[in-house]
Amino acid sequence: MSESTIAAISTPKGEGGISVIRISGSDALSIADKCFSAVSGKKLCDMKGYTAAFGAAVRGDGSRIDEAVALVFRAPKSYTGEDVVEISVHGGIVPARECLKSVFAAGACFARAGEFTKRAFLNGKMDLAEAESVIEIIGAKNAAALRLANGAKEGRIGKDIEKITEKLLLTAASLAAYSDFPDEDIEGLDQEHFSAMIEESEAAISKLISTFHSGQAVLLGVPAAIVGKPNVGKSTLMNMLSGNERSIVTKHAGTTRDIVETQVNVGDITLVLSDTAGIRETDDEIESIGVSRAIRRLDGSALVLAVFDISKPFDGDDERIIDLIKDKNCIAVLNKSDLPKVADCSALAGFNTVEVSAKLGGGMDALAKKIEELCGAAALLPDDTVLLNERQYSCAVRAKNAISEAKEAFCSGVTLDAVTVLIDEAINALLELSGKKATGEVVEEIFKNFCIGK
Ligand code: GDP
Repeated sequence: MSESTIAAISTPKGEGGISVIRISGSDALSIADKCFSAVSGKKLCDMKGYTAAFGAAVRGDGSRIDEAVALVFRAPKSYTGEDVVEISVHGGIVPARECLKSVFAAGACFARAGEFTKRAFLNGKMDLAEAESVIEIIGAKNAAALRLANGAKEGRIGKDIEKITEKLLLTAASLAAYSDFPDEDIEGLDQEHFSAMIEESEAAISKLISTFHSGQAVLLGVPAAIVGKPNVGKSTLMNMLSGNERSIVTKHAGTTRDIVETQVNVGDITLVLSDTAGIRETDDEIESIGVSRAIRRLDGSALVLAVFDISKPFDGDDERIIDLIKDKNCIAVLNKSDLPKVADCSALAGFNTVEVSAKLGGGMDALAKKIEELCGAAALLPDDTVLLNERQYSCAVRAKNAISEAKEAFCSGVTLDAVTVLIDEAINALLELSGKKATGEVVEEIFKNFCIGK
């Protein structure tokens, strides 16, 4: 356990109902007793874990800061695994700061970013993947992201990794057992059994890796662009999706001359959505800059919503857009379905198409479903274990590559020692993922991304 007792304001710095000052470490209770005075006169040091006291946050000289509630947690049954006191004061910046000052004056040190969670990890309360899930829970952009992060917080990643690691350890052990009898014929090793074990590990790690990109779409959001020629209803669609008047909607072509960006939640997906300038042939210098930007944004987006006005015949500008989107992850949004359909949409055969009325809201559910499908979110099952970040992904890929190489090496008759080295490499990558063998630098890097007080 760490020597120092740390403290920080764990709630956002702003005005709200309450602010919580968290204190963790072996002196948490005695320090809190100098800064908190219970109405009952009881000392926090004499209280059991999971109990609360009502009273006031006070300074060292006994002067009152604010009405407060203190919650006591006893090691190891606390977030950090240490003694913890959480003092709740009114949610103003000044009461929280004054209370924290008092806690520092009583002997606590300033908690660095993520230090509470880092202590939880170091004290064995959670593995590294669970600790990382805390960042994702705090920053969840939508309910699906929260669900994924909660799966990780419940230890799903750690459990899957442990199962694979155990299998690999067994595989390595059976290889080692055989290597102890080098004079025996290779037939002495149950080759089929060995291959099956290694293949099972390979399949399990591949399954984990396969959900990563869909998971990232849910967790981070998908860069998406709305494109189309002027006046087809791009801004109206953007506004319908985002539920506000973020883009200017007018009857005059060429109004959205630059890119308007907003985050919108569509089903289980958060889109980082850009409404771009209408793409058309133009001699207007400023408009053509907007058109070039729109084309660049189209190229840089993971998802394109290409809007067409089906109440009018398609023209050369529509054809140009069809050409621009043909190799993209794209939905052709056939807009103005509330008006009589005039356009011949045969040029869009082979594209994902959805008919909508951006103005009246028709077809929006079908569009949301298509968006989720194209972003892979629809493929994620509620019980899927999803890797949360690039660090976890790169460890998993390293493990997978080493397992695949081990399989190949074994089949092609390479010495068993070499196969063992590859299996060890896979095991090490997995232990790094769960944090059981992560270096100090890796751990530092992870907790640097946390906020103070977490
Ligand atoms: P943009 O230039 O592509 O961004 O087009 P706007 O969103 O500014 O829309 C151009 C015009 O089309 C406006 O008058 C909108 O009200 C109208 N509009 C957009 N979507 C629809 C729709 O679904 N149905 C009908 N009838 N009109 C629409």
